[in-house]
Amino acid sequence: MLNKVVFLDRDGVINKKAAEHDYIKNWQEFQFLPDVAKAIKLLNQSGFIVIIVSNQRGIARGMMTEIDLQNIHQKMCHELKQKSAIITDIFVCPHNNNECKCRKPQTGLFLQAEIKYPVNRNQSFMVGDSETDIEAGKAYGVKTIAISEQGLGADHKCSSLLEAAEYITGVTK
Ligand SMILES: [Zn+2]
Repeated sequence: MLNKVVFLDRDGVINKKAAEHDYIKNWQEFQFLPDVAKAIKLLNQSGFIVIIVSNQRGIARGMMTEIDLQNIHQKMCHELKQKSAIITDIFVCPHNNNECKCRKPQTGLFLQAEIKYPVNRNQSFMVGDSETDIEAGKAYGVKTIAISEQGLGADHKCSSLLEAAEYITGVTK
């Protein structure tokens, strides 16, 4: 049984990005963007599972630990779940540049995900706010949505995750 999946980048899609060259290192620094729970709930209701694929180089750089990151994700998922928004799983690249096959724009995180959750690529999407997200989604073979004023070469662009979710659920009805 193949899943319809919406892959989401995290920083800049679910929560406010850290300043350049900085990372979200603890829950105090994590701020949800508007209507994120509503967007994820809408996707869930339309039969999509939602999986986060996130580069977190702050770990390789020693600015945070895997445990710090797990704590953030546990709290994030808990808050979303209280609003009936389910994140099925989170796949993270903790590595530095050029030392792995999972750092986006490579497709390793998607390939890890599909081992656990077989993906119907024709009916799946990647939503991100950077060019590397869009490149990775295209290389993996799903439709791409940019949350960015610049279209970043994506199939579609939106101004928020809710707008993206409305678009996705509209075109896949
Ligand atoms: Zn990696």
